[in-house]
Amino acid sequence: MADCYLCGERAVFRTEDGPLCAKHFSKWYEDGVAAAIKRYDMIHAGDRVCVGFSGGKDSTVLLTVLCRLNLDCELVAVTVDEGIGGYRDDTILAAKDTASRLGVEHRIVSFTDVCGKTLDELLENSPQAACSVCGTLRRRALNRAAREMEANSIATGHCLDDESQSVVMNYLRGDVTRATASFNSNSAELFIPRIKPLCRSSERATVAYGLCNNLLVPLPECPYTRYALRKDVRTWLGKLEYAKPGTLTRIADGQEELLSRMPKSEVVTELGRCEKCGEPTANRLCAACQQLERLM
Ligand code: SF4
Repeated sequence: MADCYLCGERAVFRTEDGPLCAKHFSKWYEDGVAAAIKRYDMIHAGDRVCVGFSGGKDSTVLLTVLCRLNLDCELVAVTVDEGIGGYRDDTILAAKDTASRLGVEHRIVSFTDVCGKTLDELLENSPQAACSVCGTLRRRALNRAAREMEANSIATGHCLDDESQSVVMNYLRGDVTRATASFNSNSAELFIPRIKPLCRSSERATVAYGLCNNLLVPLPECPYTRYALRKDVRTWLGKLEYAKPGTLTRIADGQEELLSRMPKSEVVTELGRCEKCGEPTANRLCAACQQLERLM
């Protein structure tokens, strides 16, 4: 790669403006995260932000960048231990290490705390359902922990690639409600808002930032990944992005534009409380309790 166009040092990453060395690339990446936080009005003075912190590359970069940006907010981190044999133990060790290095209050919550079983136990007869069960229970665990830690937002490490994949997956599943965000409810009063500070940073840049700043340790892949629709969509969009750079940004921009033109449904669904666990829901049972009824 050519030299950094700002200082002439050896470049490590090529941006749209030109190649950058490790130091200027890190600054460029952090500025991009700060710009996204401002653009989507994510963090306010005095906020207590709970970072969903798996210990993997995206959330490690997220927590580090939020610390380095010196925002006028307090950061806490929560790691959810799903109970996945041969996978989670290593990432939890990495998460503990990073949180203590950054001096961030860190809590670990497990699926056994939430429902009495590990993900491996729940999926004994239906491993294909892994990501759907895992996602629903993880949301519940994270919400509870964030409430207990008195956070007023939950930050997750979803990057541009994740956001674009989710747009495509909604269409592949025919999930019009999610694709158009047409469900209108009083959920804002009942759920802790989610923010995604890396939503405009590509996975490639996020990994490069992690490598330049010695943040990443080799970690195993979740054994259930092979059942995930996201894996196929990631591969497919990755090829498209390589052949036609800017594809991921155009998908995210297009979705944002679509949602801004979409009228919100006039029917406002009043959320109630799940009969079993008391979490907010539009139904008798929340999504997590419905999943658990099917599996247990
Ligand atoms: Fe959970 Fe699926 Fe991710 Fe594994 S790949 S951690 S099962 S969401």
